[in-house]
Amino acid sequence: MDLAKKQTNELVVLAAEINREVSLRHKIEGDPFKPIIGQEAAKRAICVAAVQKQSVMLIGPKEMGKTMLARAAALFETPVAEAHPCPCSFWGDMVTSCLCKPAAIGKHQKKVMETFRNIEVWVEVPRPGRWAKGQQGEGLDYFKRVIEQARCIVGNIPNTLDDYSQQLLTQAEREFGLTMWMRDVIIKTARSVAALDGEAVIKLHHLTEAIQYRRLFREY
Ligand SMILES: [Zn+2]
Repeated sequence: MDLAKKQTNELVVLAAEINREVSLRHKIEGDPFKPIIGQEAAKRAICVAAVQKQSVMLIGPKEMGKTMLARAAALFETPVAEAHPCPCSFWGDMVTSCLCKPAAIGKHQKKVMETFRNIEVWVEVPRPGRWAKGQQGEGLDYFKRVIEQARCIVGNIPNTLDDYSQQLLTQAEREFGLTMWMRDVIIKTARSVAALDGEAVIKLHHLTEAIQYRRLFREY
């Protein structure tokens, strides 16, 4: 990694830390989860990251709840960053057309990917579907409870992958040329996913979910 890139990464981590401090200092009023309609995948990702205080990246168009989700993550001392998928922010949106040129989108995504390379858990925050209207998900108390339970499992039991997940990991290493760092992050994340299931052993579906958070199958 060249020096400029290293410095950018350090700055990003620092910015996330400052964000976190600011959010914690200004006591957050109320339940940040309740007003967020839909976005179950993002809430789940925050929950997973919160177990071991891993950093989270929220990617999506503007005004889809990213800021509220970031506040929710801050409550669990989880560093969080936000980004748009393109300069106008609406790339991939079902309602508003993206006005960016393909080259600009590519450049933007490459920059986001490089700048935030150190972020561990990546999740999309798209426009909520119509079905989500009027639906309210679980609140802060629920998330506190499940995260605390998972933290207990992670804190007390060592890592183990079952045979199937070990096979998948080996396959992923071969196909995607995972770095040691990325491999460690995937195992760490999978461990949190397993703990949220009340399990100490990492099974195939735990590892699959963890790999998904690395955006290995998409250009980001
Ligand atoms: Zn755009």
